[in-house]
Amino acid sequence: METTKSQPRILLIYTGGTIGMIENPETRALQPFDFTHLIDNVPKIKKLDYIIDNIQFNPPIDSSDMNPEHWKQIAKAIEENYDRYDGFVVLHGTDTMAYTASALSFMLENLAKPVIITGSQLPIGEVRTDGEENLITAVQIAAATRDNGDPMVQEVAILFENYLWRGNRSTKLSSDNFNAFKSNNYPSLAKIGLGIHYNLDALRCVTETRPLNVHYDMDTSVMFIDLFPGLSAQTLRYLFAAPGIKGVVLKTYGAGNGPTEPWFTDVVREAVERGVIVLNVTQCVNGGVHPRRYVSGDRLVCAGAISGHDITSEAAITKLMYLFGRGISRSEIHRHLQRSICGEVTA
Ligand code: ASP
Repeated sequence: METTKSQPRILLIYTGGTIGMIENPETRALQPFDFTHLIDNVPKIKKLDYIIDNIQFNPPIDSSDMNPEHWKQIAKAIEENYDRYDGFVVLHGTDTMAYTASALSFMLENLAKPVIITGSQLPIGEVRTDGEENLITAVQIAAATRDNGDPMVQEVAILFENYLWRGNRSTKLSSDNFNAFKSNNYPSLAKIGLGIHYNLDALRCVTETRPLNVHYDMDTSVMFIDLFPGLSAQTLRYLFAAPGIKGVVLKTYGAGNGPTEPWFTDVVREAVERGVIVLNVTQCVNGGVHPRRYVSGDRLVCAGAISGHDITSEAAITKLMYLFGRGISRSEIHRHLQRSICGEVTA
């Protein structure tokens, strides 16, 4: 194919998800299908004067099956093609999209090009699908540049319906609405209406270009523990004693609070003393942990829990996987948990 220098080069990485699914004729349940079916349903994409290549997961998956091995595959596809393309669009199921976006943001150190993750609520073959618009808009965003020619987006982001969100700030909000994602503690990176309106104040701006450095090791010795009224000392102790666990994201009430009864902080302290890292995040969808606002939060600080501030659960768990995967010391992990690595937490 003849190319001109100004044609943006975009690599589509198709992992699966509803966007490419079709109905199983017997059960009527949606199941992943191949990329040819997907792209044949988006004829308009040819109207973009871009060079668009693709890589596909074989087989494509429902994102409920996503795991760190798949993140490695995505990261490898980006690393191997980094210099050849201006931007990357990852087609992904919505269920674990925010986890993948968070994980990739940590794995792709020094990223200076767009990695736009998108999918859809309705399969691309359906008449009212949101997939066609999401795919085309994601490709346009991946190709967009600033006045100085640099990529407009220089980070991992999620494009869904009317918004572009920072990947490691995003959460899936709805299993029904076309606007399925939101970043509750960070502004949108762009609003999509008649035009695509970028928020330059919110977009990451790389000031010094360094070679892409991909961290492939994600250590999965981590888990969530979600507090609820009625959780017993026995159950909590049992959960914290799960074999091989190095890090726990403790999902607490409100501003980072848990029961004030001594058994609660005793169990947390015992775990911390055994070497488990406990990251305190709020169950609230908006706002963050203010650990010393209430006695109940203050006791958790004294027990050795680290405040996750306004980090999302998805970013918290993948940040722990990434930090344990780096093989760094406990004190280094503590230090990184209290700062932003790639915009995942308000410093
Ligand atoms: N279960 C699907 C997935 O995450 C849901 C979707 O894509 O919207 O792959």
